[in-house]
Amino acid sequence: MKKALVLIAALAAALGWAYALRSGAFAPKGKIIKRTRFMMDTLVTIQVPNELGTRRTEAAINRAFDRMAEIERKFNCLNPESPLYKFNESRAPITDPEIAAVTGKALEISRATGGAFDPTVYPLVDLWGFYTTSVSSSARTVPAPARIRAALALAGWRRITVKEGAVTASDRAVRLDLGGIAKGYSMGEAVKELKAAGAKSGLILAGGQVQVFGSAAPGVPWKVGLRNPRKDGYIASLPFDGDLGISTSGDYERFFEEGGVRYHHILDPGTGYPARGSMSVSVITADPAWADALSTALFVMGPRRAAEFARGRGLDVIIVDAAGKVFSSQAAPAGD
Ligand code: AMP
Ligand code: MG
Repeated sequence: MKKALVLIAALAAALGWAYALRSGAFAPKGKIIKRTRFMMDTLVTIQVPNELGTRRTEAAINRAFDRMAEIERKFNCLNPESPLYKFNESRAPITDPEIAAVTGKALEISRATGGAFDPTVYPLVDLWGFYTTSVSSSARTVPAPARIRAALALAGWRRITVKEGAVTASDRAVRLDLGGIAKGYSMGEAVKELKAAGAKSGLILAGGQVQVFGSAAPGVPWKVGLRNPRKDGYIASLPFDGDLGISTSGDYERFFEEGGVRYHHILDPGTGYPARGSMSVSVITADPAWADALSTALFVMGPRRAAEFARGRGLDVIIVDAAGKVFSSQAAPAGD
């Protein structure tokens, strides 16, 4: 596999293309300004073709980063200054219009996916230890079934209501975490900033998600690589232009192994355990907030239900099932 990776790198170099290994975003080199910042627990890269001049392009990129950082602070439920933290700790209703709007969107996705996406899985994520990035994967263990049942009983997206711009909960114990949608939302907001600053095209990459607008160069689409969920390298290279993005949820992002079984960070709100059936699920769509939440939801659903969902809605998806088989929405799997 390393050989294939070297080949891609050599090919990219020969073509004069810059390439991002983990991320999978490829762009013509030289005429593109590329900046990276660490935020939202991942590396975020913004690329903008240098059409406005270096100074203006850099200023546009900085504005986009600053907007993402602002959203990160506001939407981080572990940040004591965040309205989400206060809501979770002391039931202070959330009246921030932006958080209310994103919560509304999250609940819409919960409804549409039959609860596969659930922004109240906080107690479960916490119990499984996936909030603490400092714990090494070898120090994590599978929680006792009774504790999983107890955490599961605290979750339930129907207990959250958004009405007249305010978020309230019907239950004292419920905890809201918009982490499954906030990153995608922030990418859409960053694109708005870039456009407002005059950029005609750009690419934003954050963890397993890429969002583009315009093209990499006149007549040249952006190229987005789809990561192999088990080894270095890519399973596909996709040409993107116009307003389009892809979000991938995978069982390789945060996980530990116990007794030869992989336990990862995407939890099934039906069972309280990591969702089974897929290694990675990618959703290709224009709205990055939807893409972010839907890739998580479709991962939870398992390949067969996810493919049905995609077909029913004309949604483009690429699923790698537990056996490593790759399906695109045009050729969906027949069984889990
Ligand atoms: P992603 O890697 O984008 O699919 O996001 C997964 C993150 O969302 C996890 O790290 C959890 O914090 C959270 N999460 C896990 N399971 C779910 C779920 N079923 N619905 C919503 N968020 C979830
Ligand atoms: Mg996601």
